[in-house]
Amino acid sequence: MGRLELNKLTKVFDSGDERIVAVDSLDITVDDGDFLVLVGPSGCGKSTTLRCIAGLEIASSGQVLLDGNDITDKKPPQREMAMVFQNYALYPHMTVRKNIGYGLKITTDLPKDEINQRVEETARMLEIEELLDKKPKALSGGQQQRVALGRAIIREPKVFLMDEPLSNLDAKLRTQMRTEIQQLQQDMGITTIYVTHDQTEAMTMGDHIAVLNGGELQQLGTPLECYHQPTNQFVAGFIGSPSMNFLTVTRRGNILEHEQFSYHLGQETVDFVADASTELTLGIRPEHIDIVDADTPNAIPVDVNVVEPMGELSYVYITIGDQTYTMSVEGERLVKAGDHLHVVFPERKIHLFDAASGAALK
Ligand code: ATP
Repeated sequence: MGRLELNKLTKVFDSGDERIVAVDSLDITVDDGDFLVLVGPSGCGKSTTLRCIAGLEIASSGQVLLDGNDITDKKPPQREMAMVFQNYALYPHMTVRKNIGYGLKITTDLPKDEINQRVEETARMLEIEELLDKKPKALSGGQQQRVALGRAIIREPKVFLMDEPLSNLDAKLRTQMRTEIQQLQQDMGITTIYVTHDQTEAMTMGDHIAVLNGGELQQLGTPLECYHQPTNQFVAGFIGSPSMNFLTVTRRGNILEHEQFSYHLGQETVDFVADASTELTLGIRPEHIDIVDADTPNAIPVDVNVVEPMGELSYVYITIGDQTYTMSVEGERLVKAGDHLHVVFPERKIHLFDAASGAALK
């Protein structure tokens, strides 16, 4: 089992002249075997949350529960968790074999032979058997990361905690290790909390993602829930790549007025926003903007600034008035800098947010 609950978890750093609320009353439940990604911009409190779960930081208030037991005040070794760090934190003077077995050696009284057998099983699982007698400095970044994973796995923890474990690897290896970690996690079924600032990692790896900003939970949901139904403008802008476009509009009846265009809404959308303020932010993802004929309802004239071919897709930077927005089009499509086009934001794809609070209305 490994069901983890954070109840109003709060961590304040108070140095006398400065008081930083790094983690602000977080309520998060992670089911046994679930892969939860904590994601958000630099400084949003991801690592501090993870360190509170690991026992490396003492929570200022709130609780951490594991399988219903309050472990808030327990020391790290008593928490049945294993942490994998960004910098791997391997012991440089020890061989891979010793690095992997060290945790078992100091925390259990297992005989040497049994520890060695488990080290070899773990190494087999990670396909690093041939590295067992090497020292960390003789290994590549990806190999070191596997050893760090091995050191966590061998302890058979109830929870894996991973803090940006792939950030020191190059792009290709990162993609490969991403799949390997997911596979390993699924095979072992161990509850995992994974910290990253990379929304692609969050989208592709997590069963659930928790989006943080300023120490506060913005949304907890599946990656697709956060993508399709963001709870606010922050989540909408953070999840998805390239980011969602935002335009300031004012609603008059069933029309959204923008400085450069008017957008006629259907009744269903009006119903969503009827009771809200008339000052709104319209959100549209780059992949949802369509190129259309000039006489299409709600067509908006745009100028093409720059085209970035990405292979299958091209990112096209367009201007409406003096603002630049991003759209993505299929690679084959012939769009070039300097073109004047018409585009449409399909109504079922638009998001509307309260301009002041950022709360999602549709
Ligand atoms: P990053 O992605 O840059 O690692 P993060 O989301 O993991 O960021 P944290 O490292 O948890 O963010 O930091 C959250 C806030 O708490 C930041 O404002 C940071 O400066 C502050 N903070 C973290 N650790 C300490 C500390 N030991 N003392 C004082 N302030 C701290």
